[in-house]
Amino acid sequence: MEFKDLKLVAPLLKALQQQDYKQPTSIQQQAIPIALANKDLLACAQTGTGKTAAFALPVLQLLFNDKNSGNTSKHTKALILTPTRELAIQVEESFKSYGIYTGLQCLAVYGGVSQYHQVKKLQQGVDILIATPGRLLDLVVQRYISLQHIKTLVLDEADRMLDMGFINDVRKILARLPQKKQTLFFSATMPPDIIHLSQSILNNPEKIEITPIATTAETVDQEVYFVEKSDKRSLLIHLLKNSSIDSALVFTETKFGADKLCAALRRENIKVQAIHGDKTQAERQKALNNFKNKHIDVLIATDIASRGIDIESLPYVINFELPNIPETYVHRIGRTGRAGVSGKAISFCGMEEKMLLRDIHKLIAKPIPVIKDHPFRMEQLDVSTQPQAMMPFRSMSKRKGRTFSQR
Ligand code: AMP
Repeated sequence: MEFKDLKLVAPLLKALQQQDYKQPTSIQQQAIPIALANKDLLACAQTGTGKTAAFALPVLQLLFNDKNSGNTSKHTKALILTPTRELAIQVEESFKSYGIYTGLQCLAVYGGVSQYHQVKKLQQGVDILIATPGRLLDLVVQRYISLQHIKTLVLDEADRMLDMGFINDVRKILARLPQKKQTLFFSATMPPDIIHLSQSILNNPEKIEITPIATTAETVDQEVYFVEKSDKRSLLIHLLKNSSIDSALVFTETKFGADKLCAALRRENIKVQAIHGDKTQAERQKALNNFKNKHIDVLIATDIASRGIDIESLPYVINFELPNIPETYVHRIGRTGRAGVSGKAISFCGMEEKMLLRDIHKLIAKPIPVIKDHPFRMEQLDVSTQPQAMMPFRSMSKRKGRTFSQR
């Protein structure tokens, strides 16, 4: 199938050609016709599947056609809600590049920066607004934004939105939107609270599922190293210096851990920066750009700071610590092996993290190969981390994650 088979208008096809997109991805093939037919959509898809274009292209096309049929109002007509500012910025970039020939105006608004420039741009008229929930509500309450004319609402990474505690803000926003509208609901996972939320806002939706919840990208090679907590730093330095890893995104669980690791790698003359919840938006963006442009070799990130990171052909993701929530593992490794490019996900597992590894095995329903040949091998290797050795459900749901203020 080609993009023109999806009946996309010429300005979009021209932009896609410039992006060098040859064929629509699976989610694009399925979601675009549904969205263009003005239907509600419930899509289960991870980042890396091409989900942004799957909603951006039909939103742009519907508004482009609307404008061409005489609706020249300056009201905001499409709203995309994202959980983080990084994702908001990336979604805005996508809208801008796909919509470059449509004449439609789009803008991302998010917290952590002054609202001054956002308000100035809003006052000039914005067709498509991309927003994080908190800042959007702030601007709505101050009457800089009216949601009265929204025709299409997109919830992007709805599961993250709930994980990050935005449910009340999302509900307040929903209450201010017109009853009659199209809603496109995207989530990487479909736990019960997400299904419940989707049922409360979608109207007879079409459903598509691209990557089942527990399926890790086929193109990602996964490996686990059993290593004592105190040896993890040395193992990472060893791998960065003695293997073919020249560029890696490294996940830590806390911002304190990210800063400490960053300082340790710098002492080894490794070019590295860290992004986490305490860094300003400008600092995060700068670090991300440095990583994308290969000015640094290693980017250390906490889960929150890394949401939506989209770096083409990112070859390595390293879990310096395993996440508390197994779905987060799937999210993390989804940052590599994108759009068919091969990638590798390496995880360090300490003795105290074996239960977390078991949860991950259980979720992805396959064992992760163990690399035993390394200088920091942990003596006591416990093979019961294989998926056959299931842990009771209870222990998974009761596990407490770290608080957001630590990330
Ligand atoms: P997403 O899942 O939206 O985060 O997209 C993941 C990556 O795939 C981004 O770098 C996109 O630019 C890229 N991408 C999206 N659709 C296509 C396509 N049809 N062909 C090639 N690359 C694509």
